[in-house]
Amino acid sequence: MSQPLKIAIAGLGTVGAGTVQILTAHEDMIAARCGRSIKITAVSARNRDKDRGIDLSPYAWFEDPSVLASEADADVIVELIGGSTGPALDLTKAAFAAGRHVVTANKALVAEAGTELALVAETAGLILAYEAAVAGGIPIIKALREGLAGNSISRVLGILNILSTMDATGRDFDDVLKEAQDLGYAEADPSFDIDGIDAAHKLAILASLAFGTKVGFQNVHIEGIRHITAIDFEYARDLGYHIKLLGLAGQTEAGVYQRVHPCLIDGDGPLAAVDGSFNAVIAEGDFVGRSVYEGRGAGAGPTASAVVADLMDIAAGRFTHTFGVPAIQLKDLKPVPIEERIGAFYVRLKVVDRTGVFADIGSAFRDHSISMESILQRDHDDDGNAHVVIVTHDVQESALLAALASLEANAAMVERPHVIRIEDVWGE
Ligand code: NDP
Repeated sequence: MSQPLKIAIAGLGTVGAGTVQILTAHEDMIAARCGRSIKITAVSARNRDKDRGIDLSPYAWFEDPSVLASEADADVIVELIGGSTGPALDLTKAAFAAGRHVVTANKALVAEAGTELALVAETAGLILAYEAAVAGGIPIIKALREGLAGNSISRVLGILNILSTMDATGRDFDDVLKEAQDLGYAEADPSFDIDGIDAAHKLAILASLAFGTKVGFQNVHIEGIRHITAIDFEYARDLGYHIKLLGLAGQTEAGVYQRVHPCLIDGDGPLAAVDGSFNAVIAEGDFVGRSVYEGRGAGAGPTASAVVADLMDIAAGRFTHTFGVPAIQLKDLKPVPIEERIGAFYVRLKVVDRTGVFADIGSAFRDHSISMESILQRDHDDDGNAHVVIVTHDVQESALLAALASLEANAAMVERPHVIRIEDVWGE
């Protein structure tokens, strides 16, 4: 058998400890599958004395992850610290400068610095591998980059966030978040999950792979789930929909759209039942058609499983360009503004319950050529106001916004309209 692949791990938290566990538990199987063993030589974290439930005594300890990256006896540096700047970025650059490959689970790093890092790596003949960065338990990077490589991809979408919805049983959002944090699923900064930033990081990576474009995180339209209320869940359910935070990216004649926002999706459709730590991705290719992937998107086991798969590719000598094509050939991404989206909408208006309000709403929509699929008035609030719930037919977003703006001055409007996009996840 050939020489072992030597690796050094920076970050021994949820994913780092999980990676050590898999490499130890499946040492022989991994060696058999790669034709060589994978040997951990060195590790780094902040606190040397923390009990991590794993035996670190065989490995050299480095206080500074960048020193580990440049000086450890290793062919590959595994970056499991997190963050798009600071130690994760520094150590990745240090690793490439020292001629080592990098495996990472860090979506923030790949989404915000991926193009630049891929250029550095590829120029030096090195690998930047990041399967764990998107939906850990789903091998979606490999699927898009290799499995579907013979297709032109038109659209990729999915549930990319563990907090994709409020719990259907009506549990308080803080409860759901706390549980995810206790299980090690949530991002260090909870706003990354709630405000859609984490999902946007993953979407930007998938879009680059799917469309051969530079990673364009800064072009992702991002809306989180903070403004969705229990009443919207109730009305959506009554209309036959579920509300989920989706990431959607597509290639059109106008360019590439990338958006993360709450959506109403068909209650019987493929993504409606995806919940908890599960993620799901749908990719549409011109020859393959539509393919659907589902699995756990967070947690030690699923994420470390992807880290180990990347390490095994390197050990076995399997190499592909970071984003499917040489990084130097990645195209500039031409973003399509959200106002150009054409689709249906759910609109909830809180209005003073008096005659003429329906007529005002009807004329505002008619004036902007928006046709309604349904309009219904729901019960009074305790304060005597009513909810008007409208489902539109497909309309350009800018027209809907103009119609709603024209209603703003209407004295019957009690609060700003609540608008949620309706997405047909199966496409036309
Ligand atoms: P944790 O917070 O559990 O672990 C982070 C580790 O990095 C800890 O061991 C910590 O040390 C170490 N660390 C932090 N700062 C430094 C520093 N300055 N120098 C050296 N070590 C440092 O994070 P996770 O394991 O959850 O996440 C790691 C990466 O994986 C992130 O990029 C995350 O986005 C990604 N990821 C995580 C998933 C999950 O389910 N948890 C899912 C998919 C991706 P110490 O332990 O001593 O404090």
